[in-house]
Amino acid sequence: MMYEATEGVETSSAANSLMETIVAKSPGELEFHQAAREVLDSVMPVVESEKRYQNAKILERLVEPERVLMFRVSWVDDLGEVQINRGFRVEMNSAIGPYKGGLRFHPTVNLGVLKFLALEQVLKNALTTLPLGGGKGGSDFDPKGKTDLEVMRFCQSFMSELFRHIGPDTDIPAGDIGVGGREIGYLFGQYKKLANRFCGVLTGKGLTYGGSLIRSEATGYGSVYFAEDMLATRNETFEGKVAVVSGSGNVAQYTTEKLLQLGAKVVTLSDSAGTIFDKNGIDEEKLAWVMGLKNVRRGRIREYAEHFEGTEYFPDQKPWSVKCDLAFPSATQNELDEDGAKTLVKNGCFCVSEGANMPSTPEAVEVFLNAQILYGPGKAANAGGVAVSGLEMTQNSGCMRRSRDDVDQQLRRIMGSIHENCVRYGKNGGVTNYVQGANIAGFVKVADAMLQQGVV
Ligand code: NDP
Repeated sequence: MMYEATEGVETSSAANSLMETIVAKSPGELEFHQAAREVLDSVMPVVESEKRYQNAKILERLVEPERVLMFRVSWVDDLGEVQINRGFRVEMNSAIGPYKGGLRFHPTVNLGVLKFLALEQVLKNALTTLPLGGGKGGSDFDPKGKTDLEVMRFCQSFMSELFRHIGPDTDIPAGDIGVGGREIGYLFGQYKKLANRFCGVLTGKGLTYGGSLIRSEATGYGSVYFAEDMLATRNETFEGKVAVVSGSGNVAQYTTEKLLQLGAKVVTLSDSAGTIFDKNGIDEEKLAWVMGLKNVRRGRIREYAEHFEGTEYFPDQKPWSVKCDLAFPSATQNELDEDGAKTLVKNGCFCVSEGANMPSTPEAVEVFLNAQILYGPGKAANAGGVAVSGLEMTQNSGCMRRSRDDVDQQLRRIMGSIHENCVRYGKNGGVTNYVQGANIAGFVKVADAMLQQGVV
């Protein structure tokens, strides 16, 4: 089967040929093909100019997970019925550190989705400047509509298999979609019981048992810090700008919080059922209400429009048709397509910072690059979460606790250095291609470590 390259993207025959191998070896893993295609298109010129990367088959090894675990997760629901889900852990690359990456609990989870997320994670983690390899895991379990006890029983069953494969120096999972503080708590409790060991084996833990201040905030804050640095390249700030945010989970909430603190007006949030548009702006009080809705009552974003006057609700729609200066896709992969991207650009949006992983389709990315707007891809813009997870690990291993200000300053510094690296590898003339910059900067670091470690 021939692999079709994305229209408008320059491709080399080596990239096409490797892509055909990937598709043949991983049929049907569409999200993984999409993520791999983007990486190959960015880094192939570097590989073609470096014989040592070619001889050691670095790229061919990079797209092949070091290990994939797949296991049955059986549990009993509140009605006494046996339920069966599938659990995964993709240990993608450990060249620069132990595997690190989140767990996702969502009905759409499958091997292809986790391999895409794991590949993104390898390059993202390299960008953070911390010694972290890349992995990702999760299950097709849907926490939505489940009771706390059902979630606990599922997490315990999931960890009953996973615990033997992870450890603070081997593989350190964290949260992602559907895995927040509640799930991390249950997972940690079961790990501790089975391993008889209290250690930093998971990040995103509660503050009472080894969690780091600012970890919950880190991905959203980081995405805004990255946008701040992109804006500064055009002598712009957030002051008075209108922003649209998608999603209403962890990343969307703290993206909104930081945007408010820095002077922007946020007018949308969404979930998988629709979008709310609040022309008056979501202020701190309204955001606190959203946090209660989503994190405690676990309700739907539609209720915001019923609660706050002057708000519109668009069922089954994304926020991209709302006029704005800045966009923060913070829900899920491929939520922003070509039409959405064209509408954003037509309406004057000039900066997109991705809190989510791969939220823009390849066609949408093309629209942003052709329009030469500031476009920060997820693997750079949302690296703040894993960066603070790295800081949580150092606090756990050193039995110490950093202050809120200290962690926030470190996060700010790390996002600044990621931005700098993207510019270093992605600047062409007066314009920075952050996709190219992020992929090449991450790749070079991992590739050099792989070269030095021989063929393993
Ligand atoms: P949450 O589970 O807290 O929130 C996810 C949000 O996205 C919810 O509003 C959810 O709506 C929406 N959503 C999920 N799936 C879909 C879908 N298929 N279609 C439409 N909307 C959907 O997850 P996070 O905020 O943690 O994660 C959001 C994104 O950020 C993901 O792409 C994740 O990989 C990425 N990310 C997260 C990090 C973190 O630290 N948490 C780190 C780096 C990246 P609903 O409730 O209706 O499902």
